[in-house]
Amino acid sequence: MSDGIQSRSILAGYDPAVLGEGSVLIVGAGALGQNIAQSLALSGVGTLHLVDFDVFEAHNATRSPFFPTADEFERHSGLKAPQVAERCAAIATASRPDMRASATMIQRLGDRPIAAADVVISAVDSVTARAWLSERSRLHGKPMVEGGFAGSLFNFSTFSAASGRVCYRCHNPFRESAASCTRYALAAEAENIVPAIQTAAAVLGGYMAEQCIGLLHGKLPSDDVRYYGDIRRATVSKARLQVNPHCPGHHDNLPVLTQVDVRDWAGSAADLATAVANRVGRGVIRLAEPFHITYSCTGCSRFCAVMATESAWLVDSRCVDCGGPWQLSDAKMPSSVAELRVPDDLVGESPLAVAPMAVLGATEGASFVFEGTAGLGLIVLTDQPVEATAPGEDGRQCSGPPQVIPDRRP
Ligand SMILES: [Zn+2]
Ligand SMILES: [Zn+2]
Repeated sequence: MSDGIQSRSILAGYDPAVLGEGSVLIVGAGALGQNIAQSLALSGVGTLHLVDFDVFEAHNATRSPFFPTADEFERHSGLKAPQVAERCAAIATASRPDMRASATMIQRLGDRPIAAADVVISAVDSVTARAWLSERSRLHGKPMVEGGFAGSLFNFSTFSAASGRVCYRCHNPFRESAASCTRYALAAEAENIVPAIQTAAAVLGGYMAEQCIGLLHGKLPSDDVRYYGDIRRATVSKARLQVNPHCPGHHDNLPVLTQVDVRDWAGSAADLATAVANRVGRGVIRLAEPFHITYSCTGCSRFCAVMATESAWLVDSRCVDCGGPWQLSDAKMPSSVAELRVPDDLVGESPLAVAPMAVLGATEGASFVFEGTAGLGLIVLTDQPVEATAPGEDGRQCSGPPQVIPDRRP
């Protein structure tokens, strides 16, 4: 592509070289994610990584710029992420566009996509995923642009990556863990679904894409604010966000204490404990998401033997009798863990110790917050991917590298 293609962008204050080098992780490829991705691809952002486990449904057509043709639907099995990435590759104006797609839940990819991005964009309608993304972005020092909409109303914020600044969870602190509220959260999220409309998605997508472009140019937000808009009244107002002293989120970027090669292990959580203890001594591992041992079926409320991370459980949180993938348990109580004492909680014959590491969310690219004798920081897992299979998955990626969309532009 010739430089002339970017002449208007340059007049508008964009630096095509900066945008071409920019890398943006977009979590959520629904109406909002598509409108953001479209603007960023047209604006010349070089690398976009789309993450979404969902598939297109007919009613998405009225607010999906990249709604698939029949052929495209077939080719991508209806999955949103590869469809959107492919269409972005077709309209990209960067000289070397790199469009990627992962058809899975963001939690299942570990932290690598976040660590690799310059800016993280939350375009999901799940409070769980937003809170998770906010936390992981801050740990890795990545700014996050987050927004949501319902009908004609929308709101968005840009969260600085700087230590001490407000985070998404400051104003959504209730969602620390699913240990007591998975069913509540599911019900609340279901009730929050107000039909999205394309005009709001386009306007909000434009605001969020422009925030992202500013961040790529090094313009960090000076204030912590949230913008509220209404496309029918054509209004936007802003409210200052205050740091919540009781926020459950991490407000600091954390140093990497150590990297652990996953190839060193036979693959159980006990190996993880041994490797961590050998490198950084005793302490507490905070899992990237809660690990459910037993949890109640959202169909019949009986307890299931889960032994999986929350995102794996949430793919289909029903027992086998209710049509889900999880076996029933004779447990009398729900049981989950969010922290593991190393090595104490991961030795001997406890179910956790013998659980495959991947089941704990410990795949290549994952990282854990660790607090112990070596201080507070991250433990990053590197190298070979660990095979992970979770019940309820249907060919969507569990982890592993994103699908790279070839550049087929003329
Ligand atoms: Zn916070
Ligand atoms: Zn059930």
